[in-house]
Amino acid sequence: MHFLDQAKIYLKSGPGGPGAVSFRREKYVEYGGPDGGNGGKGGDIVFEAVQGLNTLIDFRYAQHFKAKRGDHGRGRDQTGAGADDLIVKVPVGTQVLSEDKEEVLADFTEVGQRVVFLEGGQGGRGNASYKSSTNRAPRQHQPGGPGEEMWVWLRLKLLADVGLLGLPNAGKSTFINAVSNANAKVGHYAFTTLVPKLGVVRHKAREFVLADIPGLIEGAADGAGIGDRFLGHIERCRVLVHLIDIAGEDPAEAFRTVNAELEAYGEDLSDKPQLIVLNKLDLADEELAEGFAAELLEAGADKVFAISGATGAGIEQLLDAVLGYLPDRTSTETNAAEVEDEHEDGGEWSPI
Ligand code: GDP
Ligand code: MG
Repeated sequence: MHFLDQAKIYLKSGPGGPGAVSFRREKYVEYGGPDGGNGGKGGDIVFEAVQGLNTLIDFRYAQHFKAKRGDHGRGRDQTGAGADDLIVKVPVGTQVLSEDKEEVLADFTEVGQRVVFLEGGQGGRGNASYKSSTNRAPRQHQPGGPGEEMWVWLRLKLLADVGLLGLPNAGKSTFINAVSNANAKVGHYAFTTLVPKLGVVRHKAREFVLADIPGLIEGAADGAGIGDRFLGHIERCRVLVHLIDIAGEDPAEAFRTVNAELEAYGEDLSDKPQLIVLNKLDLADEELAEGFAAELLEAGADKVFAISGATGAGIEQLLDAVLGYLPDRTSTETNAAEVEDEHEDGGEWSPI
């Protein structure tokens, strides 16, 4: 499941229809009065957040959105029909940015949210509207008002429930493959994952969206690594799963590095609940695992899980814990706060 996180599109609202010039023609009346109607209003450009969309990929194929022009006015005082609005459907989580990306022009956080983004032009006045006691046969009329046009960027912050964190090679892609329907690429080198991957995980009759975030490297939050661009996607996750390579050089140091990145990124990312996981358990013996777990607890972890993405060991317990942080889909309440409290009271090591 590939994920496109931004797209540039062109928007133009419809111009208004021109007003008409017309004079009444009636039998036996030599000079009928003016009866040219006004033009109709041009179509608006309206954004609407809809359910079911997860990416901006559709905008790769359709980049131009032009609403129709209002109809022209007609004789017999007929106003032209207004044009239909053009509804641009975007996923929840989409932000509309100015062309220079400096300004957020609209932010869609809920299904059904609508914003009239560009107004269609007003219809032009027909000559009937210029009639006055001194001007009984005006020929004046207006063209329709112009539509508005603009290039904007759409940016989607991924609405994943769970974000996967970890240094390159921590085993994130392998993990997401093991637990979800995603088909992440697995490789021996850093930065295999160039775009975040989404996977839908089904566990104990519940479903959640897991996002694999490209490996963080030191300085990523300052733009040094590609991880930075995607950190934005995990801002809305309810819980982070932090994978640490048990066969890596220094697990506790890896833990600190990633957390320093989160801290540097800001946006309260470092306040999100985090499940600390020693991965690749199949490569370590019990004693080594216990030693590293102790170091992680020392470094600030509340609890340490141990899994192997390769063999599947420990994954069940980890997913159980993840579910505890997710809202029960049958109610709107979240129980994350309670679970968090549970984890407050001291370190815990859960060997399998
Ligand atoms: P990512 O960079 O965090 O996405 O890591 P990958 O999933 O691409 O894994 C990096 C390397 O570690 C690959 O060679 C994987 O085969 C290997 N790997 C991942 N998980 C495990 C595991 O649980 N056990 C073992 N032995 N190797 C693993
Ligand atoms: Mg990867």
